[in-house]
Amino acid sequence: MREYFPALIGNDALRVQIGREIDERRLAHAYLLVGPAGSGKHTFARQIAAALACEAGSGAMPCGICSSCRAILEDRDPDVITVSRGERVTLGVEQLRAVLADLYVAPNWHEDKIYIIEAAETMTAQAQNALLKALEEPPRHVRFFLLATDAAAMLETIRSRALMLRMAYLSPEQMRRCLLDRDRRAAALAESSPDEFAAVTLAAEGCLGVAEILLDARRRKPIMLRRESAEQFLSLCVKRHSAAEVLVMLSALPQKREEASELLGLVSIAVRDLLAIKRAPGARLCFFVDALRAEQMAEQISLQALLRLTDALDAAQSALSRNANLRLTMLSLAQSANLI
Ligand SMILES: [Zn+2]
Repeated sequence: MREYFPALIGNDALRVQIGREIDERRLAHAYLLVGPAGSGKHTFARQIAAALACEAGSGAMPCGICSSCRAILEDRDPDVITVSRGERVTLGVEQLRAVLADLYVAPNWHEDKIYIIEAAETMTAQAQNALLKALEEPPRHVRFFLLATDAAAMLETIRSRALMLRMAYLSPEQMRRCLLDRDRRAAALAESSPDEFAAVTLAAEGCLGVAEILLDARRRKPIMLRRESAEQFLSLCVKRHSAAEVLVMLSALPQKREEASELLGLVSIAVRDLLAIKRAPGARLCFFVDALRAEQMAEQISLQALLRLTDALDAAQSALSRNANLRLTMLSLAQSANLI
């Protein structure tokens, strides 16, 4: 079988699906690519644009080396147009109208003219309605790729006119291989601090773009500290603890709501690891780098206590999202988790 999108990692089913659609000339005119930040939505859309224009008739698709592929992948092709909200909170109708103005003008170099609309879920209702007209009856040469982290935020009429493609998460092993292949900082970190490198592959939660950010030592530091706090919090929950330890832990908790929420999110992932170990020893872990440490922790806490902790963490998260008082929420969490 022909090799589709060899430059991409993961998303195997999606690559084959789109590759065949291009080969059989049945690619749709509008797709909605959904996935978290850093999951490779823009990269995939650009790769599809390159595949459509690639001059190599056989072999890998896209070839990545012909002049069409290079122009598109290096973002200097006039027929691949990115629409972005820039510094704005929303993508407004003016920005959209400006780029859609030449929708009916034939492409410059290729058969297709590609519009990549970033953060499509931030389009105002007006902007979505303006786009809707183009999606209903697009000129033959036009293809749209709408990129979104949250498709639910978009109008149903838009969602029903674009085929949804969900970006898959990379496994920690895929992430590890990919980073080591592409990024010299990854190899250096894996050599100097293997545990920290393993933590990066887990903390990125399957998103290559996030992992690449974490390879920057300055960006990584606060996240590594938060992982440590999460582990400390959990270790207090699983073992006997003194009141002094709990007080120290509570006073060290983040003072900002978003940071506290991120910390609790990490603790929840760690708790899920312990539950996974209880259900199936040797389970794949999403938080712990050190499986032995996770197993020891899992031994120290009962299944019921873990389930209670999961509920308490969920309740605390939802209280924070409703703007509840941070201090009181944390105290109530500590009580529910039997810390005080
Ligand atoms: Zn090519």
